[in-house]
Amino acid sequence: MPSVEPPRLHSFVREVMAGLGSNDREQILVADQLVGANLAGHDSHGVGMLPTYVDRALRGLVAINGASSVRRDAGAVVVLDGNRALGQVAGFEAMELAIDRARLHGVALVGLSDSFHIGRIGHWAEQVARAGLISLHFVNVAGHDPLVAPFGGRQARFGTNPFCAAIPGGDGEPLFLLDIATSKIALGKARVANNSGTLVPDGSIVGLDGQLTNDPATMFGDERAALVAMGDHKGSGLAMLCELLGAALLGGTATTASMEADGSVLNSMTTIAIDPASCGDPMGMRSIAEGFLDWVRASQPAHGSTGVVIPGEPEHDARVTRATSIAIDDTTFAELNGSAAMVGAGRL
Ligand code: NAD
Repeated sequence: MPSVEPPRLHSFVREVMAGLGSNDREQILVADQLVGANLAGHDSHGVGMLPTYVDRALRGLVAINGASSVRRDAGAVVVLDGNRALGQVAGFEAMELAIDRARLHGVALVGLSDSFHIGRIGHWAEQVARAGLISLHFVNVAGHDPLVAPFGGRQARFGTNPFCAAIPGGDGEPLFLLDIATSKIALGKARVANNSGTLVPDGSIVGLDGQLTNDPATMFGDERAALVAMGDHKGSGLAMLCELLGAALLGGTATTASMEADGSVLNSMTTIAIDPASCGDPMGMRSIAEGFLDWVRASQPAHGSTGVVIPGEPEHDARVTRATSIAIDDTTFAELNGSAAMVGAGRL
């Protein structure tokens, strides 16, 4: 498996985006987030997404150098139209707005409807946490055929609708970062497994016949299986809430029988940002939170486990182990070079 130094990967993403016509700022924001996802251990939302971006941009489904626009501004509540702009740009601007308004009002809700893919949601929570604020993110995924079956069903009815929440620590790093697809696995994880010839975990995919399967290839044929919602009825309910709050509340595209699937990857995201100072003493909150997390971490390992992990620690650890080198599977490597050739950029 080839390994690439992160700065080289960053410049490669910039070159490909430049080939699509992206300006410097857009190139940097896209490269920061995609390479950042690889560094955080989430290859499913890393540079492996770039071929999809190139394909959809060449099909006219992405507004290169686009921007969101304000649809409603009620002070503590702002709704933005994403206008199919790259989520890395529209998401960055939405978070800057959420930070400003939460500092002003104590709490702010910023809705971003129908931008192109906003990638790893933890990236947005980290941006808000660096400003010392708490955030919650409810996100839907639409524009393409649904991927996830609701609890009790075998046909897909919604996307992998991620939920994310983060609590800031004192150093700008989140103390706690829960960033999850509401399917048992993200589609990108099935893509990575398919590309690397491995199986997905038990209970992740339900076939057209209603039987569970470990074969990731079933997600990529003409007749597709469905991902299983995480946590039975509870995760399935959270996935639906992400559709209702992430898209329906904002008037964004929801996955319904009448949705026109053009193969795009549209995200709508409702972000709630909270300034802990508005609830009292942020230092006190942090100290109670740290005490709680230490207490949780100290729970003795269950049989077969190496111990308790606090959400956010795996991403922190991945950044240490991947700091100088990111492994890219052979299929993804070839796809990246194929995309580069399509837009006249050099090979990785
Ligand atoms: P995952 O299953 O790896 O879970 C990640 C979360 O669980 C993180 O918060 C991590 O810190 C925590 N975690 C991991 N192992 C843990 C352990 N042993 N104990 C406690 N916590 C642990 O990730 P996923 O659900 O496959 O999602 C992957 C990424 O995909 C996320 O970044 C998500 O935002 C992104 N995503 C994006 C979209 C989109 O449309 N933009 C859609 C779906 C998912």
